[in-house]
Amino acid sequence: MMKKANVAIDGFAGSGKTTVAVELARQLELVYLDTGLMYRAVALQCLREGLDASQEPLLAELIQRLDLKMEVVARPHPTCRMLLGSEDVTDELHDPRVGGLVSKVAACSAVRRDLVARQQAFAERGGVIMVGRDIASVVLPEAELKIFLAADLAERARRRALELASKGKHLTEQEVEAELSLRDRLDSERADSPLVCVEGARQLDTTGRTVAEIVDEIAGWVRCGSV
Ligand code: C5P
Repeated sequence: MMKKANVAIDGFAGSGKTTVAVELARQLELVYLDTGLMYRAVALQCLREGLDASQEPLLAELIQRLDLKMEVVARPHPTCRMLLGSEDVTDELHDPRVGGLVSKVAACSAVRRDLVARQQAFAERGGVIMVGRDIASVVLPEAELKIFLAADLAERARRRALELASKGKHLTEQEVEAELSLRDRLDSERADSPLVCVEGARQLDTTGRTVAEIVDEIAGWVRCGSV
């Protein structure tokens, strides 16, 4: 049987990666993995233990012993959940405290090495749509389709504030904007695997566009085999 294509989606925080990837996974019958949740789970454990995330050896030791499991479900809806031991922590991963720490944790090379190896193993058989910051550049440089999503900071903050409010977390757009722009800066400037738009990636600006429009455009590329 022919191996199914892998799709890599990278982009700035709040650019619509997750929403677009879930819908694409559904339409194209791909398995969806949100790698941001993996880094967030490590950050959550760091918070729980009160670890100083600027101490790389502490993070390196944490990732060695962390019992992180990914639970990926394709039907009826593409879903990706994170477990620490037997505890499903997914609903805690968008807490602003986790958002405030995650980019620091994600800058640690030992953490990245561990998570990237798991992500690569996950995509070995193809048919995966993977979302993150270094998917096209590091995790799946051979992915058949590489997408880089961007959007205006103000619009990203608006979307994220609405999403958080729907989960009962009320932050102002200004607060969200500050968090997103700080994370973008840390993610783009770090030494190990910074966020970049690689050569050959298709860049899409989602500002002012609906999810359906973006999904149709990407699904069109996959279906007509232009990937
Ligand atoms: O995608 P999301 O915003 O949930 O990612 C949270 C954080 O995890 C990012 O801001 C980044 O610091 C880190 N991350 C990463 N590499 C990935 C995915 C996420 O460094 N592949």
